[in-house]
Amino acid sequence: MKIVNPATGATLIDVVPDNLAAVRRKYEAARAGQTRWARVPLAKRLAAIGRFRERVVALHESLARTLTQEVGKPIRQSRNELNGLLTRLDFFLAESARMLRDERVYEEPGKLEERISHEPLGVIANISAWNYPYFVGSNVFVPALVAGNAVLYKPSEYATLTGIHIGEMLHEAGVPQDVFVPVIGDGATGAALLRQPVDGVFFTGSYATGAKIAAAAGRRMIKVQLELGGKDPVYVCDDVDVKAAAAGLADGAFYNTGQSCCSVERIYVHESIYPAFIDAFVAEVKTYKMGDPMDESTYIGAITRRPQLDVLKQQVADAKKKGAKLLLGGSVVKGGGPIAKGNWFAPTVFADVDHSMQLMRDESFGPIIGIQAVADDDAAVELMNDTEYGLTAGVYSADEKRARRILARVNSGSVYWNCCDRVSPRLPWSGVGHSGIGLTLSTYGIQTFTRPKAWHLRTA
Ligand code: NAD
Repeated sequence: MKIVNPATGATLIDVVPDNLAAVRRKYEAARAGQTRWARVPLAKRLAAIGRFRERVVALHESLARTLTQEVGKPIRQSRNELNGLLTRLDFFLAESARMLRDERVYEEPGKLEERISHEPLGVIANISAWNYPYFVGSNVFVPALVAGNAVLYKPSEYATLTGIHIGEMLHEAGVPQDVFVPVIGDGATGAALLRQPVDGVFFTGSYATGAKIAAAAGRRMIKVQLELGGKDPVYVCDDVDVKAAAAGLADGAFYNTGQSCCSVERIYVHESIYPAFIDAFVAEVKTYKMGDPMDESTYIGAITRRPQLDVLKQQVADAKKKGAKLLLGGSVVKGGGPIAKGNWFAPTVFADVDHSMQLMRDESFGPIIGIQAVADDDAAVELMNDTEYGLTAGVYSADEKRARRILARVNSGSVYWNCCDRVSPRLPWSGVGHSGIGLTLSTYGIQTFTRPKAWHLRTA
């Protein structure tokens, strides 16, 4: 399997993917490893994650460079992702012991005691995405390991080197090789992993693959968590500072080159400020520098998966055909010099869009946005909820009460007031509809890797 730099088209390395037999061997090793790992005291498991954190700090810059090389993410954004990983590790290190402790929930002294213990699920499959491999991976494998599970971790084929580095750092930190087990390969390897009798599958990726995984796991009665895509809307009310709102939303739409599950993908603007907002938004996007992701000043990086260029081209053609107004970009661009053979798409802004257009219905997962005028708050809520997805949604307004009223009516896992494209380790990360089932992060995202066991203890 060739690992290609999407910014240059150059092959970084060839790796040998795991075939079915190799996946089977890894599963069997993990089954034995898990039994031992579950008996390691929690404090020691947490100490290993603490040492993993130290490895991430020590290797920070080289990890950031590898990430940028294999996914095309601007180097500053790769560093930000690693900093965010440290914050998540701190959260799990601080909260896990409290959430995994046995609980006595009832007692009749000398007669009866009722307790809950938090048992590991066993051996879990963690099939992951490439767009934030440190974030979406660690949301799963860190609390899963802390809770006493063994993890068969399949990084995306587009983030293989990062997945291998994660494995090396965890092993150096003292997590046994048969407890955190990288499984290398593409969708076929992921499918081979699902043929093993794992005790749970935790998936991050597209709705299309998530649906296949749910079907494969459906008859097995194992825990299935799916963190899938989004078509995340934001509504800009008439009472905002237009320039500040436009700057915040342009960042929300174009950060990580629009390749975030919670990127802003649809913007609705109150008609009274629509022209001013459009001008401010376009002016902001024009300041973004696209180019070599290794350059410190780059803000727009490469499109990681080449086939996504066709999705973006198709959405542009469809929007134009149906009467949208193209204000910026709209096409594949050719980089110069060393990035001539990379995957590049110009930051693209459309106005006067509507919900007949693919751009406002299907996940774009790229640097492209549609902006639509709305008459009032009710119309905005109706359009925000007109989607199969439900990951995040936001409102920009000077009036907190108004924003809360609107957000209460919006059907999504996370809601934002005057912010967007934001994840907190303290809050649950979940979606409704095609955005998935289950959750990660927050204290719920620790216990989700356990099975509560009920103890009824009656004195003879
Ligand atoms: P993808 O669905 O193409 O691949 C995800 C993973 O599934 C990869 O590891 C891939 O190898 C594996 N896979 C593919 N086919 C498989 C099969 N038949 N059986 C088992 N495994 C298989 O998604 P992607 O391109 O890596 O990621 C982008 C998508 O992920 C976007 O839709 C994005 O919104 C979503 N995402 C969601 C979240 C979230 O937290 N909700 C976070 C990041 C990304």
